[in-house]
Amino acid sequence: MIMPFLKGLATTLRMVFTKPITQQYPEERREMYPRWRGHPELTVDPDGRRRCVACTLCLVVCPSNAIKGIVPAEGPEHEKYPMAFTIDLQRCIFCGLCQEACPKAAIKLNNLYELAQYDKSLLILDIDRATQKESKLRTPDWL
Ligand code: SF4
Ligand code: SF4
Repeated sequence: MIMPFLKGLATTLRMVFTKPITQQYPEERREMYPRWRGHPELTVDPDGRRRCVACTLCLVVCPSNAIKGIVPAEGPEHEKYPMAFTIDLQRCIFCGLCQEACPKAAIKLNNLYELAQYDKSLLILDIDRATQKESKLRTPDWL
């Protein structure tokens, strides 16, 4: 009778002094693995310009129609760029096909994983909100 009690007490005491494996989310965020497939985002060159040339390959390969509304435009030196680009995170299945298909490494999946929002329209990213620098700042609206 006393032995099981002592064993249970020993386990309890051991756990009291063991570092907890749980995290205090959302104050503590998990560091994702480098190959984690999170939100797709448009990458930029060191000079801050988007790499995208509006070829629409990502839109064609996307199996869930999460990429839409790519409006191509042409610059003074005939360089192509998108005037509009929409990524709908509500539809994205994080398959990474867009990243694989892109000939310019202009779209990649980042390490963001939160999708819960009170305002669902925040999950539909226009070209600015889909671009790398801004996506780093994106947080759920409940934080
Ligand atoms: S990760 Fe997959 S589902 Fe999401 S936008 Fe890219 S191709 Fe579409
Ligand atoms: S992100 Fe890549 S594949 Fe998609 S339109 Fe731009 S250049 Fe083409």
